Amino acid sequence: MQREPVHDLIGVGFGPSNLALAVRLAERRNAAPAAHCFIEAQAEFGWHRGMLLDDSRMQISFLKDLVTLRDPKSPFTFINYLFERGRLQDFVNLKNFYPTRVEFHDYLRWVANAFDDQVHYGERVTAIEPVMAAHDASVVTQLRVFSRAADGRERQRLTRALSVGMGGTPQIPPAFAALREAPVLHSSRYLTEIDQYLGNPVRRQRVAVVGSGQSAAEVFIDLTRRYPQVDATLVMRAPVLKPADDSPFVNEIFSPAFTDLVYAQPRDARQSLIDTFRDTNYSVVDRPLIEQIYELLYVQSVSQSPRHRLLPNCALEAVQHDSGDSRGVLALRLRDRLNHTVSSEHFDVVVLATGYRRDAHHVLLDGLDAALGQTVEQCDVARDYQLVTPAHFQPRIYLQGCCEDSHGLSDTLLSVLARRADEIALSLDADEAVSATASSAQRCTASHAGAAHLAAML
Ligand SMILES: Cc1cc2nc3c(=O)[nH]c(=O)nc-3n(C[C@H](O)[C@H](O)[C@H](O)COP(=O)(O)OP(=O)(O)OC[C@H]3O[C@@H](n4cnc5c(N)ncnc54)[C@H](O)[C@@H]3O)c2cc1C
Repeated sequence: MQREPVHDLIGVGFGPSNLALAVRLAERRNAAPAAHCFIEAQAEFGWHRGMLLDDSRMQISFLKDLVTLRDPKSPFTFINYLFERGRLQDFVNLKNFYPTRVEFHDYLRWVANAFDDQVHYGERVTAIEPVMAAHDASVVTQLRVFSRAADGRERQRLTRALSVGMGGTPQIPPAFAALREAPVLHSSRYLTEIDQYLGNPVRRQRVAVVGSGQSAAEVFIDLTRRYPQVDATLVMRAPVLKPADDSPFVNEIFSPAFTDLVYAQPRDARQSLIDTFRDTNYSVVDRPLIEQIYELLYVQSVSQSPRHRLLPNCALEAVQHDSGDSRGVLALRLRDRLNHTVSSEHFDVVVLATGYRRDAHHVLLDGLDAALGQTVEQCDVARDYQLVTPAHFQPRIYLQGCCEDSHGLSDTLLSVLARRADEIALSLDADEAVSATASSAQRCTASHAGAAHLAAML
């Protein structure tokens, strides 16, 4: 009977996190590429395609690419990408550290292309189950990874280690959760779907964007430019659009040394550090974009034809969908958070720029709860991003992008990717060396026992 192949590592998702890991694993000495693979739900590589707006820029320096901070001599630097594309000289002339997201996406895809043979695109990982040792059903030695392709075809693969890099899932406010077939979309699907709602250029339409962070501001300004027939409203909980703090001392929180600092703290102190620096990433907007929005509203006020507006201090209480309402099919009930008055606003389309949840791995890994003796959510995560498991649970599970609570604000961002990939690869190497030593020690003990047994027989 043919034995099922067992991978050294399977990556769930092939976004920037696992892509950085693929690059790092390729540098391992005696690397056997076939021993690891990645499974990606999208049909081809894509980095937040739904928000690849033409003029949106990166929020970090291009030097925080997949490798430079770990190995500036790597062939996979952003600079080498520019060189290979014949744009290095022109890029220098731009005098800008922040490329467009469209260009960074092209860079990521260029790197991803080099690893095509390691990625199973168009397959969604649906479940992970423990595999017990043949000789002892209480010991988990491997994981079985189940996936489903777009055509419904199911696959299973075995692995000794897992790297979960699934990214976020759209956060939908409770008021919208029950709506079906309403013209509501999350910002993650903005570019791919908005045209189906606003494709008619002669029909004047009111669009609400809910949120007060970078994506909300980007969608708001994009609506005003892309669709001349649209009146756009930014519905915000916050009193104003606040700028993201990217000043130099504050930016140090995105360094690996700061990850060490956060990780070393007790739980409460970690949370307080995260809260202190929240305005680097959450509910904040790049200053130039704030200025563009301010100017847009100012120019409107000069011409006395206000069409686009901000609605600050709004708590969203309820939503009603009535496809026959000529004022707009979606009625939003809003409570003013300062004076507590309630108003109703009507819109034709709502875009939810309400962020992402980072807990999809809890469901994906819940088939392991019994073997772990607790839920994945209850398990600690070690500094090397490895889920802390009991001794009888041997497979290693690394979590990327869902460890903000323990590893700090950089965890969901690109800043730490190069170093995190290194830390995970070193951890894998160390564990493999320990297993190799343990199995050679076992072989040794077994051969000593065999020798003793033979001696006794003689
Ligand atoms: C619009 C936008 C702009 C951003 N810009 C920046 C920026 O400028 N700088 C910065 O530092 N950060 C930025 N971020 C943060 C972002 O989290 C990181 O840029 C980066 O995407 C993290 O990479 P990742 O691989 O962890 O997650 P993702 O990029 O989300 O990739 C996860 C991948 O896993 C796949 N997947 C999910 N579930 C499964 C499954 N069950 N089976 C198989 N595949 C699965 C998804 O299809 C996806 O391709 C931005 C985020 C957004 C939404």
